[in-house]
Amino acid sequence: MSQIYNFSAGPSALPSSVLKKIQSELLEFRDAKASVMEISHRGVDFMELTKKAKKNLRNIMNIPSNYEVLFLQGGASHQFSMVPINLLKNKKSANYVNTGLWSQKAILEGSRYCRVNVCSDSKSNGFTDIEDFSDWNIDPDGAYLHFTPNETIAGLEFDYIPEVDMPVVADMSSSILSRPIDVSKFGVIYAGAQKNMGISGLTIVIVREDLLGQAISNQPILFDYSIQAQNDSMFNTPCTFAWYVASLVFEWINDFGGLEAIEVHNKRKSELLYKAIDSSDLYSNKVSNKYRSRMNVPFLLSDPTLDQLFVKKALESNLLGLKGHKTVGGIRASIYNSMEFKGVEALVAFMGEFEKSCA
Ligand SMILES: *Cc1c(COP(=O)(O)O)cnc(C)c1O
Repeated sequence: MSQIYNFSAGPSALPSSVLKKIQSELLEFRDAKASVMEISHRGVDFMELTKKAKKNLRNIMNIPSNYEVLFLQGGASHQFSMVPINLLKNKKSANYVNTGLWSQKAILEGSRYCRVNVCSDSKSNGFTDIEDFSDWNIDPDGAYLHFTPNETIAGLEFDYIPEVDMPVVADMSSSILSRPIDVSKFGVIYAGAQKNMGISGLTIVIVREDLLGQAISNQPILFDYSIQAQNDSMFNTPCTFAWYVASLVFEWINDFGGLEAIEVHNKRKSELLYKAIDSSDLYSNKVSNKYRSRMNVPFLLSDPTLDQLFVKKALESNLLGLKGHKTVGGIRASIYNSMEFKGVEALVAFMGEFEKSCA
């Protein structure tokens, strides 16, 4: 197989060493005498895997001991409901920051449970910028503040964590494990696994202990963080294979040198790509420099009728998954942790050739 680079937004590329490891032990998992897909989640082999995975994630992210780490089923979208169910308590409202499509989905679901105060809205700038924090209109009686550190479609990424007098909740689906963060500044962090942690089906939730135990009582029991925590995320059968893949990704991050090394890697890749975009006449990215995403780099062609040809030619050059999201068009290169620097170099070289061929 010739070298292929996969720029898919999610599900997205896995490190090739992880794929090979899965292949090599797919039929017989370590000492289990069966595939990891075939064994009990309560058996010793799988329990050992989960213990190690949790420990590794705690170490990698430096998660303080007063936080629970949950390995749940469902997508990040389930958390759009679980967050209000667990955190509203006796409050009637919550603050949400709108920086793009995923924020909007969280807002829509949150509105089913409480009055949503959109404390900052990037809609008017087409999701290319974030209003200064000092101008946000925060409801002090809100139960929490929800934001999306990286908007996967707009390519709009915070370079700071908002500090407020209420729990901060972050949908980190497309940026978790892409750089070191201070977990202690958050009430809840959640992320679907299929971007930077493995495959779909698994969602990681990191929740501060003091926020547990007050879920709205008439809601599905599986949606109660404290029930999940009490049962080690095994109230029912967990998504064992996705959990297994995540465990390998955590080991891969350790081998890579942890999040400091990953951050350097991600900075280098995104800088190369933005430089190529900014120095060309054909490509453009309108996101404010400060808030440009290191994970998802959307860009437009000055002549949108060339989009299709770009994607087709790129595919012929073994560059996959570059079609922009249907709501914004253009091109999007998702360059998560697993994307090699060489992959971005190949994309940049292709972009240069394509531009020349269009001149
Ligand atoms: C992909 C994505 C989601 C949706 O995740 P699902 O697992 O499909 O529910 C939510 N938020 C962000 C920021 C994402 O990138």
